[in-house]
Amino acid sequence: MHRRHKGFNDGLNENRPYASVPTASASRTFPCTPIMTANRRVAVIGAGASGLSAARALRQEGHSVAVFERAAGIGGTWIYSTVVESDHLNTDPNRKIVHSSLYDSLRTNLPRESMGFFDYPFVAVAGEEDCRRFPGHREVLRYLEDFARESGLYGLIRFGVEVVRVEMEGEGRWAVVSRRVVGGGGGGADESEVFDGVVVCVGHYTEPRVAEIPGIDSWPGKQMHSHNYRVPEPFQGQVVVIIGSAASATDISKDIAGLAKEVHIASRSAPGGTPMKDPAHANIFTHSMIVKAFADGTVLFQDGSSAFVDVIMHCTGYKYHFPFLKTNGIVNVDDNRVGPLYKHVFPPLLAPYLSFIGLTTKIIPFPMFQLQSKWIAGVLSGRIVLPTQEEMMEDVKNLYSEMQSAGWPKRYTHNIENYHFEYANWLAGECGHPQVEEWRKLMYYANRKNRAAKPDRYRDEWDDDDLVKEAYEHFKNIFIST
Ligand SMILES: Cc1cc2nc3c(=O)[nH]c(=O)nc-3n(C[C@H](O)[C@H](O)[C@H](O)COP(=O)(O)OP(=O)(O)OC[C@H]3O[C@@H](n4cnc5c(N)ncnc54)[C@H](O)[C@@H]3O)c2cc1C
Repeated sequence: MHRRHKGFNDGLNENRPYASVPTASASRTFPCTPIMTANRRVAVIGAGASGLSAARALRQEGHSVAVFERAAGIGGTWIYSTVVESDHLNTDPNRKIVHSSLYDSLRTNLPRESMGFFDYPFVAVAGEEDCRRFPGHREVLRYLEDFARESGLYGLIRFGVEVVRVEMEGEGRWAVVSRRVVGGGGGGADESEVFDGVVVCVGHYTEPRVAEIPGIDSWPGKQMHSHNYRVPEPFQGQVVVIIGSAASATDISKDIAGLAKEVHIASRSAPGGTPMKDPAHANIFTHSMIVKAFADGTVLFQDGSSAFVDVIMHCTGYKYHFPFLKTNGIVNVDDNRVGPLYKHVFPPLLAPYLSFIGLTTKIIPFPMFQLQSKWIAGVLSGRIVLPTQEEMMEDVKNLYSEMQSAGWPKRYTHNIENYHFEYANWLAGECGHPQVEEWRKLMYYANRKNRAAKPDRYRDEWDDDDLVKEAYEHFKNIFIST
């Protein structure tokens, strides 16, 4: 009990509303149907970090909650599995899905102080094996398990149950059809239940996006997506091309470089000139994009160089995917834009009964999930008022047209890097939560700078100890006040 900090209290036993209840701004009106009922029956789909935070906030608000989780445990992405999908490019729609994309060596790319939930700091447990500031994935899973247990969430979760259909039956009435997953492969009978609201928390790092490469059909090598990468041993002595430049591409290229003969990174953001040798790894070369793959096994890069390649690994990201969601076209995924969604959470025409948590990227995920969860919980109870449908649609349209004017592709709709903290603080304002702590913001930027300067060492060498100290001072106050 209370492993992470003494006297932890998540407020589940307190039936009082938040001390400061935001009032609706003058321009706001109730949606068509005023929300009069405080307690709703809400289905949460997924028991990863976002589903757990949703369940907790909904329960704190007084709603009755059922969490559907197709896995046998909580944690979603953070449940590492040595199993990979049978189809390594994940193109077969009938393949058996493996949810997590974690590789064995993965350590967090955010410092633990900034990564944790606002009121449940991600501090190390004295004497446990991984007390590092950037811990391995197993420590994150332990943290989430502690969070779920100490928040009393396990009893709300139906493990091994997959949601196969979510369909609106009438305003505020959702049929949730689920199926017990037998031995991980399906086979149970469908069961249908009606809920007042549905919160979708299924993550978005499971359905891979794959790069298109001219000539690939006749290229004889092996292709895979990073979703199926676990350990470097299979790449012993091989020449590997990694497509991408995000965190996974950087980590995996270094993980593999110790055993592979050569690692070639093909990155859209790399300059077009000659290939660049990594200063810390003699066998890692960065190129601009691939021009073509040939039947003799070679791959030609835009910089004019070529290599005889054994494996092409696509570290090219993922697609939002909600195969269970039937909204008659009200919510769509178009080039990785899930929409229309007001503030990345509510489809205006279905709000507040349908909502999404965790779609935004380039953020600090857990605290963001918490703010979105509190907002949804408060809106569902009627304590927080949404703008009208028209106003919400207008807001969405403004975002889309700003993106279009800036030449920002649709697929970056939920990349909120440029307004991450403004967005978080807006949510905080809506639900009466304190603004994001200054130390957390500064730490986020300090880490980003350090990562760019020391891509190989940022997890073990940093110079923001003053912020770490400030964070722990802040945590002490949390422990004292709870
Ligand atoms: C390689 C990698 C590294 C990352 N590193 C970091 C990091 O260092 N720090 C950080 O803060 N974040 C990191 N992230 C982001 C990470 O995704 C978030 O931290 C967070 O775990 C996302 O939580 P989630 O609950 O939204 O989704 P998930 O963790 O993916 O959970 C979704 C859950 O929904 C369940 N589910 C899906 N469909 C259904 C269905 N139909 N029925 C029932 N259940 C269903 C799944 O089984 C799963 O348990 C990383 C992500 C990846 C992929």
